[in-house]
This record gives sequence, C-alpha cells and structure tokens, in this order.
Amino acid sequence: TDPRQDVIIVGAGLAGLKAALELKQAGKRVTVLEARDRVGGRSMPGEIAGQTIDLGGQWVGPQQTLLLDQANTLGVKTTPQYTTGASLLSLDGKLSSYRSDIPRLPFLSLLELGRLERRWAKEMRSLPTTAEPWLAVKAKQWDSETLESWILKHVHTRGAREFARTIARAVLCAEPRQVSYLCFLEYLRQGQGLETLIGTQGGAQQDKFIGGAWRIPERMAEQLGGGIVLNAPVLAVEQNGQYVTVTTEGRKYTAPYLIMAVPPVLAGKIGYNRPLPSKRSALLERMPMGSVIKIHVAYQSAFWRQRGLNGAVVSNDRIFNVVFDQSLDDNGMGVLVGFIDGDHAIAMSAHDETARRQQVITDLVHYFGQDAANPIDYVEQDWTAEPWSRGCYVAHTAPGVITSFGDTLREPCGRIHWAGTETAIEWTGYLEGALQSGMRAAREVIAAQR
Ligand code: FAD
Repeated sequence: TDPRQDVIIVGAGLAGLKAALELKQAGKRVTVLEARDRVGGRSMPGEIAGQTIDLGGQWVGPQQTLLLDQANTLGVKTTPQYTTGASLLSLDGKLSSYRSDIPRLPFLSLLELGRLERRWAKEMRSLPTTAEPWLAVKAKQWDSETLESWILKHVHTRGAREFARTIARAVLCAEPRQVSYLCFLEYLRQGQGLETLIGTQGGAQQDKFIGGAWRIPERMAEQLGGGIVLNAPVLAVEQNGQYVTVTTEGRKYTAPYLIMAVPPVLAGKIGYNRPLPSKRSALLERMPMGSVIKIHVAYQSAFWRQRGLNGAVVSNDRIFNVVFDQSLDDNGMGVLVGFIDGDHAIAMSAHDETARRQQVITDLVHYFGQDAANPIDYVEQDWTAEPWSRGCYVAHTAPGVITSFGDTLREPCGRIHWAGTETAIEWTGYLEGALQSGMRAAREVIAAQR
C-alpha cells in the first residue's frame, strides 16, 4: 500500500493514459493499473509480412483535433487513406463500383437514402450537445424501439434499408435489432453525422498514422515516465470517507481518488465494497460491447490499384463485409484490411482460424477476382475473444437503457470517477472520445481535490 499517491487510474488505454498525463502535468502523483502486459487497450500493434499495422483503432478524421494534437506532440504523423479509383458495393449478390462515400443504389433507393440522411441529421441535431440524450424531447419515444424496428417503419426501399443496416453494423459492430434508435442517433451526433462518420475524405477515415496509431499510447506511456503497472488486473475497489483502496492479484494500492477508465462491462465485473448506486450498476450491466474481428491480408502487389480500384468494399451479402486498402505505396506489397462484424463476428469467432481465413479469401475473390486467391500473409485479431475488452469498437445500448439509467454515465460514485470512450461528449467509440473522456475525468479529480 502506497498512500502517497494522489490518484489511481484503472486501465492504460488512451483514456487512462490521457488522464494520467493531465494529472501529472497538474503536479499529481498517479499510478496506472493495467490488466494486460501492454498499454493501449483497444489500440494495439501488429505486423503483416514485415509491415507494422494496427490490430485495433487506426483512422483519424480532420474533426478529431485532440487526437491530431496528441499525435503531433508525440511526433506521430498521418498519411491519407488511399482513395484513388472506384470502391465496390456487393449488394444482394450483385457487384458494382462507385466513386463517392455513398454507394450507387437503384434510383428510388438513392432518393430515399437522401431523405433518410436529412431526417437523421435533423433528429440528431435535436439531441443535447452535452451528450445527455436522455434529456432530448423525444428521448422516450426514440429509446422505445430498436434501429431495426425504426427502419422497418420509416424506410421502404430495399436498397436504403440494407444501406442503413450495413452502416449501423459497420459503425457499432452490432445488429440494428440490438440497438436503441436513440443510441444510434446519439452515436451519429457524437460523430458529427452520417457523412463524417462513414466518410473517407473529410470524414473519420480520412487519415491513418504512419507506423500505426498504437504508437500514440506507447509514446504517451513513455512521456508518463513510469507509474504504470502492467499485468495488474483490478479485482476489487473499496472506498471509505477518505481513500480508495484497489486490490490487484498481488497488491493493494491506496489513493484519495480513482479514475476507472475501462469498458463498462469490465467496470461492472469489479467488486465494490460500497455497492455502486443501483442505477449505475444497472447501466454497467446493460452496455454490451459490439462484436468485431479485424483482418489484414497481404499480396505480392496491390493488384486492385492497377485495375482502377481503391480497395474499398461495402457488402450486405458477404461475411468479410467492409474492406479498405492498407498498402504503403503503389509499388510494394499490397495489403487489404477489413472487418467481420455483428452476428457474423460471433459466428466466425466459434470457428478456427483456417475456416475464417478460407471465408475471407472466398469473399475477397468475389470482390476482386482470382488475383485475390493467393495471399502471402493473413493476420486476424478477434476482439470478441479479448478478456480485457470483451468486444469492440464500443459499447451500445438496447431500448430503455439510456432513458432509465443513462444519466449515471459520467456521475462520480464517491471517490470513483469515470473515463473511457463510452463516456465521451464527442466521438464516443473513437480514440478521440477516449482522450476527451480522460481529460474530463482528470479535471473532475483536480477540482474535487481543491
Ligand atoms: P480501452 O482502450 O479499452 O482501454 C481500457 C484499458 O483497461 C485496457 O487496456 C484494458 O486492458 C484495461 N482493463 C480492463 N479491465 C481492467 C481491470 N479490471 N483492471 C485493470 N485494467 C483493466 N477508433 C478510432 O478513432 N479510429 C478507428 O479507426 C478505430 N477502429 C477500431 C478498430 C478496432 C478493431 C477496434 C477494436 C477499435 C477501433 N476504434 C477506432 C476504437 C478505439 O480503439 C477505442 O475507442 C479506444 O481505443 C478506446 O480507448 P479507451 O481508453 O476508452 O478504452
């Protein structure tokens, strides 16, 4: 036990690390306890055929200024996502190409899609900018149904329906029937609307970090210069009027304040001597993570570029259903990165790697032809099987959760303050949101200590 600490932080993801840096800057003594043997959490390094890659979060958009500033301070530079050429859409068994962020759908579907986007933009703008969607005038109505039931009621053409379902799956890694319509609208609001959220140029996938986004948490940890304890899963938290004591497998740590910067489902599994308010526990129990497997496939060359394709694919009829180009340049090895999400991720997680690889290659051959049949390397990261994430990219809520329990999301519980991308005011689900939540929690603790 070391009572000389000012703050204990649980979780060395971007949120926990940012909180630690802010507190250190304010002259506070901080200990960060991290369950894994590495920092970064949902930001994680990997390698395919000698090229470093991100097995977790990677893209950044021009709106995400905290992340861009953080990277800049640490000397991590960005490079644009490759967009030269056409993207592919595989819809109901039919493959077509298109050259914008919105796929080429049948005329009536496109018309309806335009209307749908305008409606979502209007409804999302009616939500409070303070990230308190439970206060919205129509909160109860929108939180009473799933995105799927909303789609069935309000969207009529097959193309627009499938587009709406596919993007929901791609951004939340959950099925539209699992997510409340209010949760979806708040996600849109936090990400500045559909176009920004799913867009490449001008949107959240505009750039990536040279060498990998994982260098950001790695360098944040270096900057912190100690105070991070790895392999230290927090099992229990006890608080009294003066201190919080945290139990890991081998040790106890004590400080006046604690910042919990872990995904909600994991925060809910920790033992608390003073039970959390029942409303708060109820929320933690009802914020499941999405399901996703991120997969990289390497080829001798980026053959799709030579055929005028930019490597991007969106599909409603395949398992490996969102794909991007991840090659370093035109001349070297070609790399594709993509995702298996929602129900498909749960189903494919139960298979072995050989079966998943076969499925992924079959889908890539469907999109790009026989050139895709013989990769030189394959690397997968199944986030559904990660005990210290329990899914990705982010938590979502079913109907009724936000309006019954949501207002406890950021409310401190005694000496425990809450961070993590799920508690962000903007860009929840993203690296940006994680940073922002860490800054807020650090500010709260500094104010509480005065
Ligand atoms: P985490 O990174 O989850 O950090 C929480 C930390 O707490 C972890 O290190 C965990 O090990 C630790 N922990 C958990 N329980 C305990 C415990 N009991 N005791 C001690 N430690 C514990 N975002 C983007 O901005 N752009 C993208 O392109 C993007 N793509 C993504 C792709 C994938 C495949 C994934 C998985 C995520 C992606 N994201 C993306 C999301 C982004 O990675 C996350 O929003 C962000 O990393 C979350 O940071 P965090 O600090 O809030 O949580």
